[in-house]
Amino acid sequence: MVVAQGQRWVVLKFGGTSVSRRNRWDTIGRLAAKRMADDDARVLVVVSALSGVTNALTAICAGDGIPARVEALVERHRAFCADLGLDADRVLGERFGVLRALGADPRAGALALDWQAEVLAQGELMSSTLGAAYLRAQGHDVGWCDARDWLDAVSLPNASEWSQRLSVNCQRDVDAGFGERFAAQPTAMLITQGFIARHRDGSTAVLGRGGSDTSAAYFGCLLKAQRVEIWTDVPGMFSANPREVPDARLLTRLDYAEAQEIATTGAKVLHPRSLGPCRHAGVPMAILDTERPELPGTRIDSAAATLPGVKAISRRNGIVLVSMESVGMWQSVGFLADVFERFRRHGLSVDLIGSAETNVTVSLDPSENLVSTNVLEALSADLEEICRVRVIVSCAAITLVGRGMRSMLHKLSGVWAAFGKERVHLISQSSNDLNLTFVIDEADADGMLPFLHAELIDSGAMPVHETGVFGPRWREIEGQLRPKPTPWWIGERSRLLALADGPTPRYAYHLPTVRERARQLAAIEAIDRRYYAIKANSHPEILKALVAEGFGLECVSLGELRHVFAVLPAMDPARVLFTPSFAPREEYEAALGMGVTVTLDNVEALHNWPDVFRGRRLWLRIDLGFGDGHHEKVTTGGKTSKFGLAAGRVDEFVEAARALGIGIVGVHAHLGSGVETRAHWRQMYDDLAGFARRIGTVEVLDIGGGLPIPYGADDEPFDLRDWAEGLAEVKAIHPAFQLTIEPGRFLVAEAGVLLSRATQVVEKDGIRRVGLDAGMNALVRPALYDAWHEIVNLQRLDAAKDGVFDVVGPICESSDVFGHRVQLPAGTAPGDVMLVADAGAYGMSMASTYNLRALPAEDVIE
Ligand SMILES: *Cc1c(COP(=O)(O)O)cnc(C)c1O
Repeated sequence: MVVAQGQRWVVLKFGGTSVSRRNRWDTIGRLAAKRMADDDARVLVVVSALSGVTNALTAICAGDGIPARVEALVERHRAFCADLGLDADRVLGERFGVLRALGADPRAGALALDWQAEVLAQGELMSSTLGAAYLRAQGHDVGWCDARDWLDAVSLPNASEWSQRLSVNCQRDVDAGFGERFAAQPTAMLITQGFIARHRDGSTAVLGRGGSDTSAAYFGCLLKAQRVEIWTDVPGMFSANPREVPDARLLTRLDYAEAQEIATTGAKVLHPRSLGPCRHAGVPMAILDTERPELPGTRIDSAAATLPGVKAISRRNGIVLVSMESVGMWQSVGFLADVFERFRRHGLSVDLIGSAETNVTVSLDPSENLVSTNVLEALSADLEEICRVRVIVSCAAITLVGRGMRSMLHKLSGVWAAFGKERVHLISQSSNDLNLTFVIDEADADGMLPFLHAELIDSGAMPVHETGVFGPRWREIEGQLRPKPTPWWIGERSRLLALADGPTPRYAYHLPTVRERARQLAAIEAIDRRYYAIKANSHPEILKALVAEGFGLECVSLGELRHVFAVLPAMDPARVLFTPSFAPREEYEAALGMGVTVTLDNVEALHNWPDVFRGRRLWLRIDLGFGDGHHEKVTTGGKTSKFGLAAGRVDEFVEAARALGIGIVGVHAHLGSGVETRAHWRQMYDDLAGFARRIGTVEVLDIGGGLPIPYGADDEPFDLRDWAEGLAEVKAIHPAFQLTIEPGRFLVAEAGVLLSRATQVVEKDGIRRVGLDAGMNALVRPALYDAWHEIVNLQRLDAAKDGVFDVVGPICESSDVFGHRVQLPAGTAPGDVMLVADAGAYGMSMASTYNLRALPAEDVIE
């Protein structure tokens, strides 16, 4: 192709998932060609490493099992080359050589920073090289360039050695000849690497996490490009995290400052550092979806109408507040300087600040800081020299972002009222009038976002009628393209109806669904060991199916242990965990006698029953929601839990264990069920790893269960991929430990249904009730936890749901209600077979004979 003079560039950036599959590379080629034709442009394609590769390289940089990891990476790229129909040795042979040489480099011993940067750079060098080869094979005329020849790292004052090598900023102002030199490359289409740059000493530097977005932005800035397009696997930025708020709207147009604020306070779509260079050069940006290129995406430019109003609401978890009291501090010159100097010393950057005459409270944002218990302790000790300190962990920052926040306060009364019910630790309004942040306890923030989002729309504070800014709802976009999978029981309807001809109520479990969930978890590379928490459902066929899928079993009582070995006599005890709570001495003795892995969660057991545990290998369950001891300055949201050893007593436990010759080989934390965000899991793993290092003998980190399932029609399915990515990140930071999980609900909930027959249909004071022969004795979750379960009339599955009923059971308790205002066919009549969905977890295992009603029967469907 002939390159015309003066053609301007369009920069296209593709992330890890977009470069890891062949069909995605076809998309890249197509999009690049289209841009050249439509925009009369030259195209620079900036790519990340294949997904997971940077994590693997990070593990190499930790110096751990280098040769094996290098070979695994070579294999991974070989396999992908084969997929692309490329000769791996011809295309990547030289790069494999470089990677192997780096693995054997003498600098590896000291984990030298320049060596680490070179190692990290290999991922992008390999992906861009194989991408160029593939595109050429598809007939594209594409050149390859080394990003290090064009992006120069700059050193900032105060920057650490580490950040000057592994998290660099680059030059934004270049000499006039730069564009000309770059344009002299012969092909109209070029491919280069994200993430890497030239260190001022001529060697390699990298831009840090999310660096590929930033690389694209630097190229856009230096080349004065027409546009920088960030191609990802989401449709763009939203007015709230769509996983929490399905009504969130796509933001189709933002100015740089708003986009910056949204990227910084929540959305993970665009790395916040990437806005700066484009803003500097006035280059428009766009965020687009590789899978759905027809969607409008989010466009960011300086010409965006500065429409006042809230554009987005976000929530960040894992916020740590440090509250500092000092009498009359304003009189003492330099107090704040003293304070901040101490934060700097511990490598902590401060996000929000609130101050009063005698108190300064600041927040630490975990995305910028690796806030571990040890660091907080050290900081507290340091600060104690100049003031009284209180550390408040597990806070959430809820931020409203948008132009003209001050002029909108009168519309926010509903928002203030919502917060009025909670304890607000800190309110901060940014000086650029772009954000308003409330810091509250994390537990209080649960479920708030959908409410606040709706409130902002109702009050007019979020002007969603402005179609130039607010695009379609997430729910609409997803509904069109990714309808919810049909539940298994629709396909098995006639079998279920036949089963219901037997006595009801009865449970039915679909083993293929159990296996499907098991395989989803087994596919997550970062997880080394998987156990199933059998208390969720201990049906023999389910246990057998999960053991056959490679799961171990987690028990919480001697009864469960005996059940396991009765069902599976050949089960290797090494694959069974025993994690009881307040169990009697005999159960520990019996469990140890069986040879299973016992988890202890208190010191008293060691003191009182030394002979039971002497010389054993044990796991230790820790309550990460800190309590007393030397953590007395650290309080949680006031949660009181009977589980786990208080973090402040770990040292005491270790000492007692040592005296008894006990080896602590695992540490465990199970935070309970519910929606856990990625940051949450990460924090948990970091904390566990901190303890594990201190203990010294630990091999296994067990992060428990608690994976949610979507019970409600509007619940988003748990984002396994996001979770897996988060785990891969923490695993890369702490590669020495075996990451272990022990979910219950996730594996079995959706596989089970409760079948029952309608007994009576009764109207009273305008409310129609349909009674089932199943009650809270058969499924207690609605009565106990206000749990929501989908209920359908299986007999009349195809009839319109034109009636509204309360669905109740036959138990003499007013809480014996399965659902209020449930939509069912108006003709629902006594004798109909009714189905309660997602009842496979904590259904039968919590059933009782209350009112002397019989236990439900159980069936298994293959
Ligand atoms: C109940 C329990 C689990 C499983 O919890 P789910 O929410 O069902 O995933 C895991 N570990 C322990 C220790 C438990 O008590």
